Amino acid sequence: MSHYKDIVIIGGGVIGCSIAYHLGLRGFKSTIIEKESVAARASGKAWAVIADPYSLQMAELDSPEITLFHSPKGETVGHWKELFNITYTRLHEVARDLKNRGGMDIEIASCPYDSLALTEEDEAGYKELIEDFHHKGFRELLWMEPKEIRKVWPDVPPETRGSLRTIIHQVEPYKYTLGLAQAAEKMGTRIKQGDVVGFGTKGGKITSVKLASGKEIGCDAAVIAMGPWSWEGTKWLGNELAMQLVLEGCLRMEIDQDIPPHGLASGKYSILSRVGAKELILGSAGVPHLRQDHWGTALSEDQKYEILSHCMEMVPEVVENARLVEYRGDLQGWAPGPTYHKPSMGRLPSWDNGYVATRFGTLGMCQSLGAGSLMADLIIDGQAPMAHENLMNHLDPANG
Ligand SMILES: Cc1cc2nc3c(=O)[nH]c(=O)nc-3n(C[C@H](O)[C@H](O)[C@H](O)COP(=O)(O)OP(=O)(O)OC[C@H]3O[C@@H](n4cnc5c(N)ncnc54)[C@H](O)[C@@H]3O)c2cc1C
Repeated sequence: MSHYKDIVIIGGGVIGCSIAYHLGLRGFKSTIIEKESVAARASGKAWAVIADPYSLQMAELDSPEITLFHSPKGETVGHWKELFNITYTRLHEVARDLKNRGGMDIEIASCPYDSLALTEEDEAGYKELIEDFHHKGFRELLWMEPKEIRKVWPDVPPETRGSLRTIIHQVEPYKYTLGLAQAAEKMGTRIKQGDVVGFGTKGGKITSVKLASGKEIGCDAAVIAMGPWSWEGTKWLGNELAMQLVLEGCLRMEIDQDIPPHGLASGKYSILSRVGAKELILGSAGVPHLRQDHWGTALSEDQKYEILSHCMEMVPEVVENARLVEYRGDLQGWAPGPTYHKPSMGRLPSWDNGYVATRFGTLGMCQSLGAGSLMADLIIDGQAPMAHENLMNHLDPANG
């Protein structure tokens, strides 16, 4: 059991805040240092779909062309599916806690997510997959007839043959991240604004965090949760982590009618109707040309219109009558490519009291509670829980 008294977490995104929250649940106070404000970057701008882990596994099995789920080494999200499982199964319980403890309603809802089958081939593929999953004992995937989909989205294309349905959760990403931070604060966590530029070290231990202002904050453990900027944090400690930058955007649209919470997808494009709001989120995930290897976060008009036009093919009337409220997006950190998701989580090589949790790509919300709880266990107990030891070894930053 750790005796850390001053744990500093660098980065107030969903991962840093989840680690602080889970440390708090186990009675450990920490300090989050954030350069801008909590949830200012990707964590406040996501859709945030918390996908059913089975559907992720299904997607990777089903579509080898979705590079999002594959690595050059043949690894897939299935190798760290437990991070998704933990988040998916605990989210409602945590949402209640964030309301009670932190006073934050994160606008959680569970709802169907329909991947449209528009061709005979799509239909056959989905039905085969469903049968295969049912045969293996997983009943979470269902086939839906067009009339079921049209109850919510009357104008899906006439050629719609049905859909493959899974159940997702959705939250409001800014409120979710802030809710974790506020609940952690109630348990003694401090949140400070500061631009971290380096570490003070002594005898192989990290002793402080240095800020651009010249101030130094003493610590006896440091956690780098700087999202795509974690390469910089790890570099300061001589362990630069390879990082590929991906810029992803989505559109928030206002609508006049009430559409119950629901997700609709065709290929890589999706539409999400939000809980309690006359609002849609339109977007795409893992579309390679959204990748930009630079630090700018300007979203291009071409990308915006590509999302709009693909979504308009799915539900023309709904999208045509919707009003654009916000086009938002930000950088994500991915493992080196071409497009690959493997997170990096654990203790930094050659630093007993230095940790990192990053590279969650376009699926960081889906992994947030898994990552936060396992990192807190590792920091406090000095090792991951036995049930997750292999997983943590696999994601160990020592493996690049
Ligand atoms: C458009 C879009 C849609 C998405 N949709 C989904 C979705 O539906 N489901 C899903 O699971 N995921 C989704 N994601 C991905 C998800 O948002 C990210 O994986 C997740 O937010 C990453 O969290 P993080 O805490 O690692 O990084 P970030 O949110 O980037 O947080 C890192 C923080 O570190 C701070 N920081 C950096 N450098 C310093 C420094 N020197 N000093 C102090 N602080 C510093 C930054 O200011 C930032 O606040 C989406 C992302 C985008 C952009």
